[in-house]
Amino acid sequence: MGLPPKKTKIVATLGPASASPQVVEGLIRAGASIFRLNFSHGDFEFHGKLIETVTAVSRKLGERVTLMADLPGPKIRLGILPSPLFLTRGEVVELVEGEKANKENTIPVSLPRFSRSVRAGDPIFISDGTVCLRVEEVRDDAVICRVEVGGEIASRKGVNLPQSELALPVFTGRDRECLAFALSRGVHAVSQSFVEKGEDVDFLRREAEKMGKSPFVIAKIERARALANLKEIVQAADGIMVARGDLGVEVPIEEIAVLQKEIISLALAEGKPVITATQMLESMTDHTRPTRAEATDVANAILDGTDCVMLSAESATGAYPVESVEMLARIAAFTEKHRKWMRIPEEEEGREETESPVQVIARSVAQAIKHLKPAFIVVPTRSGHTARQIARFRPDVWIFAVSPLEKTCQDLLFTAGVIPLHVREHPADWTAFVRSLTEKFGLEGEYALLTEGPSPEHPEMNHRMEVIPLR
Ligand code: PGA
Ligand code: MN
Repeated sequence: MGLPPKKTKIVATLGPASASPQVVEGLIRAGASIFRLNFSHGDFEFHGKLIETVTAVSRKLGERVTLMADLPGPKIRLGILPSPLFLTRGEVVELVEGEKANKENTIPVSLPRFSRSVRAGDPIFISDGTVCLRVEEVRDDAVICRVEVGGEIASRKGVNLPQSELALPVFTGRDRECLAFALSRGVHAVSQSFVEKGEDVDFLRREAEKMGKSPFVIAKIERARALANLKEIVQAADGIMVARGDLGVEVPIEEIAVLQKEIISLALAEGKPVITATQMLESMTDHTRPTRAEATDVANAILDGTDCVMLSAESATGAYPVESVEMLARIAAFTEKHRKWMRIPEEEEGREETESPVQVIARSVAQAIKHLKPAFIVVPTRSGHTARQIARFRPDVWIFAVSPLEKTCQDLLFTAGVIPLHVREHPADWTAFVRSLTEKFGLEGEYALLTEGPSPEHPEMNHRMEVIPLR
């Protein structure tokens, strides 16, 4: 399929609207390379089929893609309502603990010890915060609330209690089942919902290790409490997600834009990939075109420096999944081309003093790109670290990361601007290898840059950057 027109990576959530091989093929051709399995919905049989479909289609197209199992975490939901309910402002409603309402006109909430988890005065948000209740009275078996913002609620809709102290473990029993299932089916990446601290990420890794696997771990930032521990979370995880859906309920919504910028810039500073998620093209769930605000939001996330943009309902249940990916790709391609600056975070105070040799080389590669305008960059890599360090400068040329490790190639699908190339072993003649890429990918230019650091096998090697003439 050649080189994509954009360097930003696209995550598409799979669901009923995108379960067929035809749609999956359309999504890949349009530029999606990461497929999210949302374990909050659908049973294992459904997800198992999705995994088979994605694997078969990507093999047929010869395109490298990856799957990301999104673990639900301790998401609180409404239980089963016999039919959707419309709540009116000022109305008083009775919430009870359980999966089903035990008496008429009560609303079930799936949280154990629900009435002991809230206090009078607490807000309760339902359905991504579209409906807001205020607790008036807590009884032993019920919570009496007044409706502050009305709207429709239905079975299994999400509930957020941003001001309540919930002693719920972040990694639930259900998460363990989903993780075991996904890893046994060869899923490469896992995202954990509602992470609060670095230890939550370590815990997930240990659980995966017990299952004999070491997935790429994405921490979803969607809880107010995670913001205080952001740096340790980013350092513990392989990548993070700005999960604006829940985050926009857990913190005042006016704070979202600034938080997004802060989270992305921290991820860039640490050299970890970051996904910006939720409602990016929400109106394309049932329209062929996005709103101006949505198109601008996608572009702004890219200008902030996000590695990936993600579709949720747009690709999982919407009417235009392929068109939504095409739209993201178009916005990304244009925005990247008109990004007037490279993100060289040297203004971050004190960073230069603490930079490692890899980071120093990455910075000089970024400088060299400005002056030499190479056709592309080649990075022989074992762990992917050097490639990610260069990528955070968002150069306007592709970075080919060449690795004999399949896991490293899959990991690098999350990093903007990087194309992983799998080789059986590192070539003996790098110059010939680099020149062969010119023809293979139809690239033109006078030079390519090759940069490499020591590997565990060759600790005696130096860090180097080489300018390779292409003609
Ligand atoms: P979700 O996560 O779609 O699994 O809730 C993303 C978000 O909250 O934004
Ligand atoms: Mn969420």
